[in-house]
Amino acid sequence: MRWSQSLIPTMKEVPADAEIPSHQLMLRAGLIRQLMAGAYTYLPLGWRSVQKAAQIIREEMEAAGAVELHMPALQPIELFDRTGRNEAFGSVLVRLDVTRGDRKVHMALGPTHEEVVTDLISRHINSYRQLPLTLYQIQTKFRNEERPRFGVLRTSEFLMKDAYSFASTLDQLNTSYDAMYAAYCRIFQRCGLKYIPVEAESGPIGGDASHEFMIPAENGEDQIVYCESSGYAANLERAETGRKTPDLSGSNSSAALEKVYTPKAGSIEAVCKFLKCSPEQMIKTLIYVADEKPVTVLLRGDHDANEGKIRRALGAKSLELADEKTIQSVTNAGIGFAGPVGIKCDVIADHDVPLITDAISGANETDQHYKNVNLGRDYQLETTYDLRDACEGDPCPKSGEPMKFVHGIEVGHVFKLGTKYSESLGAEFLNEHEKREPIIMGCYGIGVNRIVAGLAETCHDKNGLLWPISIAPYEVLIIPLKTDDEELMKIAEKMYADLKGQGVDVLFDDRPARPGVKFKDADLIGIPFRIVIGGKGLQEGIAEVKARTAEGPEKIPLDQTVEYVS
Ligand code: ATP
Ligand code: MG
Ligand code: MG
Ligand code: MG
Repeated sequence: MRWSQSLIPTMKEVPADAEIPSHQLMLRAGLIRQLMAGAYTYLPLGWRSVQKAAQIIREEMEAAGAVELHMPALQPIELFDRTGRNEAFGSVLVRLDVTRGDRKVHMALGPTHEEVVTDLISRHINSYRQLPLTLYQIQTKFRNEERPRFGVLRTSEFLMKDAYSFASTLDQLNTSYDAMYAAYCRIFQRCGLKYIPVEAESGPIGGDASHEFMIPAENGEDQIVYCESSGYAANLERAETGRKTPDLSGSNSSAALEKVYTPKAGSIEAVCKFLKCSPEQMIKTLIYVADEKPVTVLLRGDHDANEGKIRRALGAKSLELADEKTIQSVTNAGIGFAGPVGIKCDVIADHDVPLITDAISGANETDQHYKNVNLGRDYQLETTYDLRDACEGDPCPKSGEPMKFVHGIEVGHVFKLGTKYSESLGAEFLNEHEKREPIIMGCYGIGVNRIVAGLAETCHDKNGLLWPISIAPYEVLIIPLKTDDEELMKIAEKMYADLKGQGVDVLFDDRPARPGVKFKDADLIGIPFRIVIGGKGLQEGIAEVKARTAEGPEKIPLDQTVEYVS
C-alpha cells in the first residue's frame, strides 16, 4: 500500500480526552476515530490489525474443530424473554421496535448469541449421534455499556468471536472446553500478547465453571491474583487466599456461632430476634477489617455462593466510607447485620446511635436500624479474621507462597454453561436409550478489538506502538528519503514491488514529506521493520534496515534487502 493512497491521519499532539496509552496511541497512529461515545471507526491501519487477529482466531478455531457460521445481529426479543435475559441484561440490551405493516415487532441487537444459536440447534439436533458439535462466528455485538471508555477497550459495538459447544455428556463438554482453552492459549500467544488464564465466576450467564484470559495491564478494569509457584490464578470475585478464616464448616448451631460471637448482655436468641432468623440459620460470623479496624458483619442463610460478592460490596463501601470518624464509630458500635443474598450491604454509622447498619432483607429491612448494640458491652470479639478481598502478598491457597496482584484486561472468556439455555429453549436430544435430555453447552468469547487495543496498551514506548509482526498492520515500511529523486524512487519502487511479490505486507511512504516527519510517523505507527533508502547509504549501495525495537539500523546491501526482511 502506498501511504499517499491510504488514510493514515497521524497526530502529533496527545488528544485531550484520551486517558490511557492505548487510546492515545490508537488515535495518534491513525488507527481509530470516534463517532460518538462508545462507537469508533476503524481506519485502514486499525482495521488491518483487527483482521489479522480475526484470521489467527479463525485458524485456531478450525484447528480445534470448531465450524464457522454467521448469525444475525437483529434478534427477536421473545428469545430473551424465554431465557430470562431480557430482564437480566437490563439497560445493556439494545432494544428496538420495528414496524411491520401495522404491527410492532420487538427486537434486540445481540449482545451475545446463546439464544439464537440454541434456538437454531433445537431445530436441527435430535440425536446423541449428532453430538458433539462446536460452532463459532466472528460478529458484531451490541452492548449499551454503562461506561463505554478507554477507546476501543470498551465500546457499545464490538467484534466478538463467540463459539458454542453442544454435547451429550459432561465428558464431551469437558473435552470441548479443554480444546477451546488450549486454542485460546495458542491464539493469544500467536498475537504476541502476555496473558494469564484465571479462574472466574460465571456471572449472569450461568453455568458452573469458567476461566477468563487476562492481559496484565495497569489500566485494566479487572483485578487478579496469581501465584507463580503453584500456578493458581483467579479474578478477585473468585479468588481465595490462604489466610486464616473462621472454621465453622459443617456447623449451623448457635454453639458454633458462639465461638466467634459471645454476647455479654443479651443472648444469641436476642440477636436472632433482631435478625428474625433461627440460630441454625446463622452459620457464620465474618469480620471485615477496614483500615485494620474491625467491623463485624453477620451473614446468615445460604450465602456461601455470594460471599465474594458481599465481600466486594463491603470492600467498596468501606473504602468509600473509611474516613477516620466513620471507621471509629462503626468500630465502637461494632456490628453490622447483612441479609442473605447479593444484597445491598451498606455498613454505615448512624449519627445518633452507636451502631447501625442498613440491609434489605429478612429482618433487615431498609432503614431498620438496630440500636444500642455495643461491642464490649453486648458482645465480644474473640478472634478477628481478615476477610478483605485477596491482595498482594496474601498466601496462595495452594502453595502458601505470597501471591501477586495485578490489574488485567479481560480479552477472552470460556464458560461451561450446562443446560441453562438448552432447557429454556428446548434444545434436546435423544440418548442411546431413546430418552430426551437437554443438550449440555459451553460458550467461548474473545474480544477481537480488545486483542488489538490490549496490544497497544501493553506494547509501546515513548515514541509509539510496537506491534508484534503477527498483528502489525504492515510488516515492513519503506521510506525513500527524497521522493523527487527519480533514481532513488526507481530503487524504492522496485523494492516495494519485490517485497509484495514475496508476500510481505508492505507500506510505502511515498509522501513528499521531510525525513524527520516520516521517521516520527514510522515510530508512531510501529511497523516492525523499516527500510530507509537514500542519502549516503544509497551511494554506498545499501539500505538502512531497522527493527522497530532495535537501537539502531543495520546496513544491508540493496540487492539483499528484500531477502533480509522477507
Ligand atoms: P467485561 O467484563 O469487560 O464487561 P464481559 O465479561 O462482559 O466483559 P463477555 O460476555 O465475557 O464479556 O464477552 C466475551 C469477550 O468480549 C470479553 O472477554 C471481552 O474480550 C469482549 N468484550 C466484552 N464486552 C466488550 C466491550 N464492551 N467492548 C469490547 N470488547 C468487549
Ligand atoms: Mg461486560
Ligand atoms: Mg467480565
Ligand atoms: Mg466475561
